[in-house]
Amino acid sequence: MTSDLIRPDRPDRRLSRREVLQAGAGAIVASAGAIVVRPGFSKDEPPRPVVRTVLGPVAPEKLGATLMHEHAPIVDWSELFEQQPAPIAPVREKLIADSARLLDAFHRSLAPEDRPGTIVETTPIRVGRYPQLLVDLARRTKVHVVACTGFWCEALAPQHPWAVRLGVTPGGLEQMAALFVREITQGMEDPAGKWGERFTDIRAGIIKIGCSTYLRPSERVCHIAAALASKQTGCPITTHTTKGGGLEQAELLLRHGAAAERIIIGHQGHQDDRLHDEADDYHRLIARLGCFVQFDRVDHEEYGIEKQARQIVRLLEAGYVKQVLVSHDHAPFYCPEFAAETKRPEDWKALEPDYTTVTTKLVESLAKMSVSKSDLRTILVENPRRVLAF
Ligand SMILES: [Zn+2]
Repeated sequence: MTSDLIRPDRPDRRLSRREVLQAGAGAIVASAGAIVVRPGFSKDEPPRPVVRTVLGPVAPEKLGATLMHEHAPIVDWSELFEQQPAPIAPVREKLIADSARLLDAFHRSLAPEDRPGTIVETTPIRVGRYPQLLVDLARRTKVHVVACTGFWCEALAPQHPWAVRLGVTPGGLEQMAALFVREITQGMEDPAGKWGERFTDIRAGIIKIGCSTYLRPSERVCHIAAALASKQTGCPITTHTTKGGGLEQAELLLRHGAAAERIIIGHQGHQDDRLHDEADDYHRLIARLGCFVQFDRVDHEEYGIEKQARQIVRLLEAGYVKQVLVSHDHAPFYCPEFAAETKRPEDWKALEPDYTTVTTKLVESLAKMSVSKSDLRTILVENPRRVLAF
């Protein structure tokens, strides 16, 4: 499949899929004129593998315990409803200060050898992901922040119109993959501009995609683009599922070339096979493919701590300790009036989430079920470090 992009040095020749992926830059806007072809990562890259935080590359052994699916400081679905996002500037200091305070509590909950602690910030493109805000937060808190590229799904709101457009445009799939590659290798898009108009030099360190209970067409496009981008860069993929879809996600990503050990199937822990509240067989099927099974809604309604611990223990009993990850899926602030035409600074709702539940209550619960200290460390420290480094 070729794209609509023209090689700058050979205007008579269209770019191949591989060239589009390598180009990254400029491949995002179909009408882009000058395309800078920069294969892969820049020359000033440190020795790989490293973890790409918003403040720069970090050695994997420096992460400490890692919460693999969180949001901070904000989530805002406005653009999914083709509305203006809620204003940030008037409340910026509060968003950052409160989020830093909540994340520092996570840092303090850790034993010295598991510090400083890291969060994977899984707010994808144009749903409240402001790269500079993430940098400012990372400078204020003691924990590392890893940001994501990728588009969210249409489970709870419409698919982002940018993703919809790419999904139905010839060459759009390749452009989406190139967008993800660019955000990983050079820097994330700046939502202050129009779609794909401006970019920062703040890099994403993971690809986030999602599915409804059954995978929908727009979601399939995002999955295939994620697989292509992961295949090229080695970047891990983390997913949202909606009470179902995890196994289909894994199979689709594998079919398009993503490596199993780079795939994290998320939001596990309740009705993941669409049938059973605790879908242990299903988790084992995902793990048998070589992918990670992530229990990342610990203590949410329907995702009680003991219930999550039980399902984790059954995966450990089956021998899959190296494929389990955990988190809360918390957000300090969100804008509940996302579909409204106008939004005021006071529309931001503070949720005051507790980022220490995993490292305190879940750990206690697992220890009571005889999970060893060494297995706990594998889940909280070693597995994240392995999957996030590329
Ligand atoms: Zn989430």
